[in-house]
Amino acid sequence: MPKNHVATRLQPFGETVFATWSRLALQHGAVNLGQGFPDFDGPPEVVEAAHRAMVDGHNQYAPMPGVAPLREAIAADFASETGISLDSDTNITVTAGCTEAIAATLLGLLNPGDEVIVFEPFYDSYPASIAMAGGVMRTVTTRPPDFGIDLDAVRDAITPRTRAILLNTPHNPTGHVATLSELCGLAEIAQAHDLIAIADEVYDRIVFEGSHHPIAAIDGMWERTITLRSMAKTFSMTGWKIGWAIAPAPLSAVVRAAHQFMTYAIATPLQYGAAAALGLGEAYYTSLHADYLARRNLVCDALEQAGFGVHRPAGTYFVMCDHTPFGFESAEAFCSHLVEHVGIAAIPPGSFYADPCDGRDLVRFAFCKTMPVLKEAIKRLDRLQS
Ligand code: GLN
Repeated sequence: MPKNHVATRLQPFGETVFATWSRLALQHGAVNLGQGFPDFDGPPEVVEAAHRAMVDGHNQYAPMPGVAPLREAIAADFASETGISLDSDTNITVTAGCTEAIAATLLGLLNPGDEVIVFEPFYDSYPASIAMAGGVMRTVTTRPPDFGIDLDAVRDAITPRTRAILLNTPHNPTGHVATLSELCGLAEIAQAHDLIAIADEVYDRIVFEGSHHPIAAIDGMWERTITLRSMAKTFSMTGWKIGWAIAPAPLSAVVRAAHQFMTYAIATPLQYGAAAALGLGEAYYTSLHADYLARRNLVCDALEQAGFGVHRPAGTYFVMCDHTPFGFESAEAFCSHLVEHVGIAAIPPGSFYADPCDGRDLVRFAFCKTMPVLKEAIKRLDRLQS
């Protein structure tokens, strides 16, 4: 066995599940409904704006919190949604995607042993970032069919060491969109126990049922919330890695304390592109929504017809399904069969659970692909026998 040089705190995580299943997709010539990235390009105006910024000489370090036009565009976008008027100098920090924003927030906030409440299944970078920060993750499990938030379970998970609740709505991988009553319940708990809310809202524009409510806009929450967003999903630009944190000045200081030493500043011309993206206006969001609604319905109907138990998502571009009608003993076994013999890659959600066995019956499909690709995947579902 070669020596393992990886720090003890990161050894439990290994390779990310997305890298593993994208590699297998390639190896088997499978349609990749695993890793969630669009197979189509974002708006050409956005690419154009980044290109123009390069040609115009915006090629040196950006200011640590982000370029002014992007911070102003973020402030305008947030104000039009929530009515909260931001100070673009002190309330916004541009990061290398939302993933850096999550890591910077946790690294900047947690002292060793501080606890963070996380809803399970969780995005796989959460436990790794909490571990990097020396924190302790406390999970609250959400369950099919709707993966709703159990407020009593949240109350039970609180200890004197609890520092924050890390919320993801719309939720990857379950597609749950937190209801106003769930959010008000969480707000009450956060205020009663003096907790920080960390709100990962990267799928905020991909909602099919209900509406997205930013927890920062709930009474008494602005002062204790760090809202994390990104352009990746909304503008189909996952490779640009442009995200941001919105928070009152004392909490922006938390994010910046870590961000300044992690990446310091983010790709300058791409920030100009992101500013242009936020200026596209309502028509863009309307068509994004219509496109994803059509994809969700097509894929969910086909999965249902193929025999899966489909937990139709209220938001995001993922769908969780029960694969047990096909008779495999685990999600890994099912996904291996799917990629090798059916020609479709999907994600076994074990790494989204503290105990991987809890995800045993489920499989996640991503539908952020063009219609012909989705239709090819649907055709291949015929090879699956229940
Ligand atoms: N967010 C994407 C997903 O859930 C994956 C991002 C990544 O590969 N790290 O599929």
